[in-house]
Amino acid sequence: MLSRFRRSTLRVAVVGAGPAGFYCIEALLRAEVPVEIDLIERLPTPFGLVRGGVAPDHQNTKRVAAAFEALLDRPELHFWGDVELGRDLHLAELRGLYDAVVLATGAPRDRRLGIPGEDLPGVYGSGAFVGWYNGHPDHEGLAPPLDGRPAVVVGNGNVALDVARVLLKTPAEMAESDLAPDAAAAIAAAPPAAVTVLGRRGPLQARFSLPELRELGGLAVGPPAIVPPELPETAEAVEDERERRKAERLLAVLRGYAERPAGEGAGEGAETARLRLRFFLRPEALLGETRVEALRCRATGFDSEGRLQDREESLDLPCGLVVTAIGYATGLLEGAAFDAARGRFRGRGPRLEPGLYAAGWCLRGPSGVIGSNKHDGDAVAAAVLAEVRPAARPGRVGLHGILEGRGRTWIDREGWRAIEAAERAAARAPAPRRKLTGLDALRSAAQGARQG
Ligand code: NAP
Repeated sequence: MLSRFRRSTLRVAVVGAGPAGFYCIEALLRAEVPVEIDLIERLPTPFGLVRGGVAPDHQNTKRVAAAFEALLDRPELHFWGDVELGRDLHLAELRGLYDAVVLATGAPRDRRLGIPGEDLPGVYGSGAFVGWYNGHPDHEGLAPPLDGRPAVVVGNGNVALDVARVLLKTPAEMAESDLAPDAAAAIAAAPPAAVTVLGRRGPLQARFSLPELRELGGLAVGPPAIVPPELPETAEAVEDERERRKAERLLAVLRGYAERPAGEGAGEGAETARLRLRFFLRPEALLGETRVEALRCRATGFDSEGRLQDREESLDLPCGLVVTAIGYATGLLEGAAFDAARGRFRGRGPRLEPGLYAAGWCLRGPSGVIGSNKHDGDAVAAAVLAEVRPAARPGRVGLHGILEGRGRTWIDREGWRAIEAAERAAARAPAPRRKLTGLDALRSAAQGARQG
């Protein structure tokens, strides 16, 4: 039932149903003040990065969705899926309806390398590529040219490792995942002959997490080769002590890969290894006529003052697929201050201006694990509770009126649960779900809730 005005109720709209949005909601509800929260999400489905970003074979990480799902049962919270700010209503309208608006829209745009050939077919940002294999409706039709040619993944972060792993794992290794059906079929039919993960700096500067790097050692295709196999003797060059300890642990794992006995796993050395890690190579150009055929790289190294410098040598890596995993930016939103250089909203702490707040990657930038957003959610909720007084605004009643007046439909909690039930029912054990990937399929599954 739609609520009536109650003067003391704080009305908050949270835009974006990813981790930052849910952690903010959790913190607002924990405060036990009268509150009415409307969660507005562009997609028909909630959970943001947990559904569309976290690797499909990392189901443990996705378990956090159960806690978010429980929040959807709270009567104070309503879910408005398939409603897009800027398309269905404007930020200014939303701000007029609510005491506070919290933007938690993430960072869905791929950063670009800015080198020639980047628009050739076969070259994708990791946001698009990961979205494709995770069944994100924005990237349903990506159809990357998987035909057995080698792939290169640019970047030395965890997303690069996710992409490499998903490209190389066998169907049996992915059986417990929720890899999108089309992606599963395309990868299984013609996986890349080899995948090279490329760092523009060295192993001591890699941003991999230790468990993710170790995980590569257990792949059925065999452990990664380090090409060339030389690694620094120590991590002493890293100044920051914490970073140095982390680099030492990463180095130990890399050393294990570099020293692996010949013949272990599927490969017998760097030339035959299906997965290769290469460092100190800066992408310079993507080559090809009608599709990408090679990545031209410039060798790099540190000078005596620790600055990264180009070297003379360059190298062409033949490939039919390139995925750049080099970070993300937030989308512009009319009415919200934006730091274009950093690709995120600009605020004083979580407040962009009175009554308008932001949390998570759209404010902080694309770093950290899912749990890092808990701090953001707590911080933005604390700021809202400290700074905003309820002013008997229309809130949910007003939102309902605007959307109905525009003939817009939306997907509520029951609609989402119908999607969830349809995906679970279609799964073949031990997969947890068979994802619906297109907007039409998601909308009609949600419709099932209304009819049934
Ligand atoms: P990231 O950790 O920031 O790594 C980005 C990588 O891209 C860096 O190696 C960076 O190199 C490189 N890069 C940037 N610009 C480049 C350019 N122009 N040319 C070549 N390389 C370039 O980002 P991410 O991998 O996208 O991950 C985002 C966040 O999500 C991270 O905090 C990550 O840990 C987290 N995440 C966690 C997990 C997990 O816990 N399993 C999984 C996925 C993601 P430089 O260092 O030289 O700039």
